[in-house]
Amino acid sequence: MRGAVLYAPGDVRVEDRPDPKIIEPTDAIIGLSATCICGSDLWPYRGIEAIGGATPMGHEYCGIVEEVGSAVTTIKPGQFVVGSFWASDNTCELCQAGYQSACVHRTLMGTIGTQAEYARIPLADGTLVAAPEVPSADLVPHYLAASDVFGTGWFAAVAAETGPGKTVAVVGDGAVGLLGVLAARQLGAERIIAMSRHADRQKLAIKFGATDIVEERGDEGVARIKHLTRGLGAHSAIEAVGTQESMLQAINACRPGGHVGFVGVTHEASIGGMDLFMSLVHLHGGPAPVRRFLPEHMELIANGDIHPGDVFDLTLPLEDAAEGYRAMDERRAIKTLLNV
Ligand SMILES: [Zn+2]
Repeated sequence: MRGAVLYAPGDVRVEDRPDPKIIEPTDAIIGLSATCICGSDLWPYRGIEAIGGATPMGHEYCGIVEEVGSAVTTIKPGQFVVGSFWASDNTCELCQAGYQSACVHRTLMGTIGTQAEYARIPLADGTLVAAPEVPSADLVPHYLAASDVFGTGWFAAVAAETGPGKTVAVVGDGAVGLLGVLAARQLGAERIIAMSRHADRQKLAIKFGATDIVEERGDEGVARIKHLTRGLGAHSAIEAVGTQESMLQAINACRPGGHVGFVGVTHEASIGGMDLFMSLVHLHGGPAPVRRFLPEHMELIANGDIHPGDVFDLTLPLEDAAEGYRAMDERRAIKTLLNV
């Protein structure tokens, strides 16, 4: 099969990779309909996260089940399925509590590499959710977005306790932040303040439901949020970047008693003790348990209620993955979909 492999920073190649095979009886093999490039794929692409030699890339996926192992009972060949970037059994105590991204049997799909024609999916019955039918091509991007980026934005909105009557500040205008806006709208937030200084991203934020745009960053951005909220701060803040500045911006934009949902991968952030102590906010976040939300999200998508795939502003064939990485690295694209 063909698949994307990172050889060194900036060097992604699509090449022949071995066809995946059933290894465990709980595995399934899927033929991908589409995959995509994640902001987190840019960390190794930019050399910020070290790789140990040639590394298959990708962890977002949807497609048709080709084959299942002997112990797989609910997932069947021919079904269109979506799974999260963590494979999970969905039965252990942590899964049952809604934290499938911390499943005691979890496997990180990035270690398998789903920017490829086929992928092995561990723990298929727990990991995968089947759509009611094989969707038309126009629905595929929306299902694909549910595999990670939308579920992650949604988790941030849930962790930030977004809901009716709430004002939400969204820090980060990447794909996750933008879909955090959509999640906040869907969860009934009254006011959604998107922090963005890029016209094209502001436009998408408004399409997804933002009511206000704040262009300032850091302390100025916080001051602007305070100004918009009678000096109190937002009830909820979504942090979808993962830097020191964005984390502090989210904490400081939040009012005492409010909630910060953070899903940016915090490679660089460290929070000073006094910043934390004086904030009086709730902090919750981490790798999103996307699997918790998949059944609900797939139903919303099947019904045409939400269109999270609108976040893809560049679509390329899998063979052109290298250009997809370049476009995201240079911020010419918000998020690249790769058709398989
Ligand atoms: Zn589990």
